[in-house]
Amino acid sequence: MTQQIQPIFILPEGSERSIGRDAQRTNIAAAKAVAETVRTTLGPKGMDKMLVNSMGDVIITNDGYTILDEMDIEHPSAKMIVEIAKTQQDEVGDGTTTAVVVAGELLKNAEGLLTQDVHPTVIARGYRMAAEKAQQILEKISEPIIKTDVETLKKIATTAMTGKAAEIAREKLADLAVRAVQLTYEDSGFDLEDIKLEKKTGFGVEDSELVEGIVMDKERVHESMPRIVKNAKIALINKELEIKKTEIDANIEIKDPSQLQAFIDMEENMLKKMTEDISKSGANVLFCQKGIDDIAKHYLAKAGIFAVERVSEDNMKRLSKATGAKIANNLHDLSEKDLGFSGVVEEKKFGDENYTFVSKCKNPRAVTLLVRGGTQHVVDELERAVSDAIGDIVCAISVGKAVAGAGASEIEMTIGIRKFANSLSGREQLAVNAFADALEIIPRTLAENAGLDPIDVITELKSAHDKGQKWAGINVFTGKVMDAWKAGVIEPTKIKTQAIKSASEVTELILRIDDIISSSKRGGPQMPPGGMGGMPEY
Ligand code: ADP
Ligand code: MG
Repeated sequence: MTQQIQPIFILPEGSERSIGRDAQRTNIAAAKAVAETVRTTLGPKGMDKMLVNSMGDVIITNDGYTILDEMDIEHPSAKMIVEIAKTQQDEVGDGTTTAVVVAGELLKNAEGLLTQDVHPTVIARGYRMAAEKAQQILEKISEPIIKTDVETLKKIATTAMTGKAAEIAREKLADLAVRAVQLTYEDSGFDLEDIKLEKKTGFGVEDSELVEGIVMDKERVHESMPRIVKNAKIALINKELEIKKTEIDANIEIKDPSQLQAFIDMEENMLKKMTEDISKSGANVLFCQKGIDDIAKHYLAKAGIFAVERVSEDNMKRLSKATGAKIANNLHDLSEKDLGFSGVVEEKKFGDENYTFVSKCKNPRAVTLLVRGGTQHVVDELERAVSDAIGDIVCAISVGKAVAGAGASEIEMTIGIRKFANSLSGREQLAVNAFADALEIIPRTLAENAGLDPIDVITELKSAHDKGQKWAGINVFTGKVMDAWKAGVIEPTKIKTQAIKSASEVTELILRIDDIISSSKRGGPQMPPGGMGGMPEY
C-alpha cells in the first residue's frame, strides 16, 4: 500500500493484537516450545526435569503432565497444549508426553504447509481425516487383552514405569499394581480412588507392599486398647460417641451435690450403654467418623475394643468397601450383620507417626498400595510412576485392547495413513501426509533420547514394517529393531487413541485462529510475539 491511512483505534490503549500469519506463527511457536520442553523426557532413556518453585520446593520428575503443571505456563495457546496433557492424565493417566510431543509436531508440520500457502482450513480438514484413519489403524492392529491375563498386564505396567525412578523395582511394583487392579476392578464400575497410593519414606522401594485393605494416618484412642486385633470384626459408625450438650435440658437446677453426682452418673451410664451396644454386636474394632468421649474411650478399652475416632468420610467409605461393613448411624440397631471383616487391624509406627492398618480383608473392593522409598523425592516420583502403571492396566482391561510400543504402532499408523493419502488429491493429500510424518516424532524422539541416529532407526523400522512385522520397534539399548510385543513393550491402545484425538483436536483449534487480541487489563506481562511468558529458555 502506498497511501498512508490514519490508523483507527478500536481497542483500548495498551491492548495488543496480532493478525493472520503473525497470529498463527505466534501460536505455533508457543505450542512447539511446550512440546520441546518435555520431549527430552520421552521413553526409557528420557531424562528427568528438576522443577523448583518460588518457595524453593523441588520436584524431580519425568512425568509430562507434572512438568507442565508445575511450570505455570502463561501463554494462552501454550496453555491449550498443557490442557492436552491434563486430558490425557485424566482419561488414561499415562502418555502425557506422547500427546504433547505429537501436538507440537502436528503444528510444526502445519507451519510448513502454511508457508506453502495451504489454507488453514484445508490443513485442519486433512488432519481430521488422517486422525480418523489413525484411529481405525489402531483398532485394527490392536491385540485383545483380558483381566485374567496377568502376564501381559504386568508387561503393560512395566512398560509404563520404564525409564522412571521406579526402574529399580519395576518387577515388584508391576506385580503390586496388577494385583491391586485385579482385586478392585469390576466391569460394572471402577473408581481409581479404590486404589489408594500411600507414600512413606524410609526403607527401599522393594519394601513397597499391597495392603488388602486400608492404611490411615490415625492411631487408636486409648493406650490400653490392643495394638493388634486378629480376625477383626469391624463396626463403622458415623455418629459421635459423646453426650451432645443439646440433649441435656439446659434448665436443670441442681440444688445439692448429690444431684450433681447423679447427673454425672447418668451421663456416664449413657456412655457406658453406648459402648455396650458396640460390644454386644460382636465388634472388636470400631471406626468412628466423629469424636469419642473420654469416658467412652475408657469403657471401650476395658472391653478390649480397638477404636479410632474422627475418621474422614472418605476413609469411612473406603473401609466399608474394603471390609464389607455397613456404616451405621444408629448405635441401637448395630448388629452383627453390619460388621465388616479384616484378618488384622494393627497400629504401626512409621517414623514418629502412628498408622492404622486394616489388612487381609476378604474380597476387598478398596486397597492401598504402600509405596516406599529412601527420600521424599524418590517416593513422589515412584508414586507418579505407579499411578501411570495403574492407569494403563485399567485402560487396557476396560477397553480390552493393547498395542506394542517402542514406536511400533506409530510406524504402522504412518505407513497406513500415507497409503490412504495416495487415494486423495491435491492439498488435502499434503496435509494428510504431514500428519503421517508428524507421528514419526515418537520413534524419532525415542532414538534421539537414546543417543541413536534417528534417520537410520526410522529407515530400518519402516523396512521391517513393510515386510509385515507390525510390532517392529526400536530397542533403545542396542539400536536394533526388535519385536516390541515379544520384548514386552506393551501399552493400552487408549494411550494412543486418546493422545491422537486430543493432539489433533487442539491443533485444529489453534490453526483456525487468525487473530489474537489481548487486553491490557491483566496488568501482567503482555504476550511477547513468538515467545511465551513464564517459559524458561530452552
Ligand atoms: P509418556 O508420558 O508419553 O508416557 P514416557 O516417558 O512414559 O512418556 O514414554 C513413553 C514411550 O516410551 C512410549 O512410546 C513407549 O512405547 C516407549 N517405551 C517404553 N518402554 C520402552 C522400551 N523398553 N523400549 C522402547 N520404547 C519404550
Ligand atoms: Mg509413560
